[in-house]
Amino acid sequence: MIFKVFGKKELPRLFDVIAVNRVVGPVQKGTDKNGSPLHTFGEVRDFAELSLDYKTTILSAKRFVLPFHETLCTFRVTENGWEKDVDFNVRGPTVFFGLHACDINAFNRLDKVLMESVYPTPYYASKRKNMFIIGTNCEPQPYCFCRSMGTDTALHGFDLFLTDIGDRYFAEVQSATAYNFLLQIKTADPKEKDHQRYMDVVAEKNKKFTAHVDNTDLTKILDMEFQSQAWKEWGDKCLSCGTCANVCPTCYCYGVEETVDMNATGARKIKSLHSCNLIDFAEVAGGHNFRPERHSRLKYRYYHKHRGFVEAFEESLCVGCGRCGEACLADITVPEVIASVRGEGH
Ligand code: SF4
Ligand code: SF4
Repeated sequence: MIFKVFGKKELPRLFDVIAVNRVVGPVQKGTDKNGSPLHTFGEVRDFAELSLDYKTTILSAKRFVLPFHETLCTFRVTENGWEKDVDFNVRGPTVFFGLHACDINAFNRLDKVLMESVYPTPYYASKRKNMFIIGTNCEPQPYCFCRSMGTDTALHGFDLFLTDIGDRYFAEVQSATAYNFLLQIKTADPKEKDHQRYMDVVAEKNKKFTAHVDNTDLTKILDMEFQSQAWKEWGDKCLSCGTCANVCPTCYCYGVEETVDMNATGARKIKSLHSCNLIDFAEVAGGHNFRPERHSRLKYRYYHKHRGFVEAFEESLCVGCGRCGEACLADITVPEVIASVRGEGH
């Protein structure tokens, strides 16, 4: 890894250098009922549009790589029969400017299933390979438990990672492209005091985490507590709205529908992201539903994230961003659910 430092005034210049590409970053989208700013990831054309001091976006950046609805292929009737067109829907190189470590780790985990597994998906991979990621450091919020999930720092999966160390940025450079971009602004090699400042910033950040999940032996505990009453209690609160999967940076389950044009001259196959908490998620042809109860569906989501994925890939599919708990109208949060399944304070 190469490290550099540069003054705050150089960041808009770096933006201008890279903005020949499409840029996606945190932008403010209104305010909540208390007047606090709400953010999302959107396309930006000017550095001033970026809100790099954002806390967490409501929706993750997943939707640029895994859209909620995506046309997989279209068919049309020709004189020679059906013709099929496949488009991976790539919009060229895209710079993600200002991803937090949890969201970078979320992409790394999606890669394991959607790019590196037995059945990689070209729709995801083609967009993912066109990403250039600039990460930025963040302030832990009361709902963030990324430190428990080992995702409070990103070790890979980015091109450049910037940490605000006061009057300058400490830059971790992980790709040749990032290095070449930095050649076009004024940078310097970090001195000992920059290293110390970086370590101080990280140490200060670590003191601010208040939400935690105890992952000790969690896969075994989940096996033991499969019939725990805690699932029923949390399931009875769940509204089966699917919001948690909607906002989650790592939920990737989907359904596929085929539609035929009214005049029967064309058809399309559309993939839509699904949520395992929705009532029809486990319904099969003939109408049988393998998980008709709310608690069985809620439990399934936790077992996928915290047990099945860990067994397959030795890390959790949850990166501890806290979005699901913040968005849930029933106040169901991962730290509280896991604590109660462990028999703690519920
Ligand atoms: S957001 Fe909350 S209420 Fe809605 S499905 Fe998820 S856990 Fe249930
Ligand atoms: S399950 Fe919740 S806390 Fe975990 S990654 Fe998804 S949205 Fe974030």
